[in-house]
Amino acid sequence: KELGKNTYQFYASEMNVAHHVSHLSLENALRFALERKQLQLVYQPQYDLLTGQLAGMECLIRWCHPELGLISPAQFIPIAEENGLIVAMGDWVLNEACHTAQQWRLAGLEVPRIAVNLSVRQFKPLLLVNQIKLALSSSGLPAHLLELEVTESVIMKRVNEAVEILRELKLLGVQLAIDDFGTGYSSLSQLKVLPLDVLKIDRSFIEGIPANQDDVVIAETIMILARKMGMSVVAEGVETAKQMQLLQKMGCDVGQGYFFSRPIPALEMQALLKPIQSN
Ligand code: C2E
Ligand code: CA
Ligand code: CA
Ligand code: CA
Repeated sequence: KELGKNTYQFYASEMNVAHHVSHLSLENALRFALERKQLQLVYQPQYDLLTGQLAGMECLIRWCHPELGLISPAQFIPIAEENGLIVAMGDWVLNEACHTAQQWRLAGLEVPRIAVNLSVRQFKPLLLVNQIKLALSSSGLPAHLLELEVTESVIMKRVNEAVEILRELKLLGVQLAIDDFGTGYSSLSQLKVLPLDVLKIDRSFIEGIPANQDDVVIAETIMILARKMGMSVVAEGVETAKQMQLLQKMGCDVGQGYFFSRPIPALEMQALLKPIQSN
């Protein structure tokens, strides 16, 4: 019965979820979850590979079902995208992230960048800019502390429209990251016109290093490319010391992954924050 504090890491199996929600549509269950506060954010720390200091964090959504336990976002985000619920859900994530970060600041803690994932359905000019503006103004979080992650495939699907949206977001002062990079067929000329601050190398490449020489070369090439374009690089899915050391040698700026920490609840994240230095 004593399962330990790390049980929140384990998702309910796909079969259990399918079985349990078959009588009630998953859509209704999700709507209910959003209203009944069954959704939660966990925070995964990111570390500066040069200094070892906390450099930021990524917010990841969790659905804590009263009977099934944790349901993976990989299971419910696609459904929420299909039925449009992701817009309200994404708005909740943004506000929760901004308010939590601002609460930490008001408690005298030094808060690094806090990154939020955006869905393709949120990535619409008017809607998104308004959502972000409101989340920032109602929380009071300074814009430069908020980072928005958009996947390479979402950006590249309609590059011209994406450039416009990213420019507008940039005007608000937020940081912009291209997520899952390396999986979405960007061309160099397209990448060049995007106002991005951060490039996140997809976990699939990090997985293969240092053993897979192709992945090593790809990761290294992506890093050179990012640096030339003035972006900082985050490696996601860092699981071993060997991966971390090689990334360090390659000049990768920031690491994120189980090697450093799993995504953790707000209280545990708060414990990692240092008091603001006065003077
Ligand atoms: P992502 O944005 O690529 O997020 C990284 C995923 O990798 C997270 O899975 C994280 O827990 C996992 N991860 C982190 N470090 C490691 C590692 O060292 N090894 C391995 N194997 N995995 C690692 P998670 O939390 O299950 O989220 C899955 C995906 O769901 C995310 O992928 C993202 O696309 C989506 N997602 C999560 N939260 C949100 C959200 O608030 N909004 C939207 N639109 N999508 C979200
Ligand atoms: Ca992400
Ligand atoms: Ca990612
Ligand atoms: Ca990914």
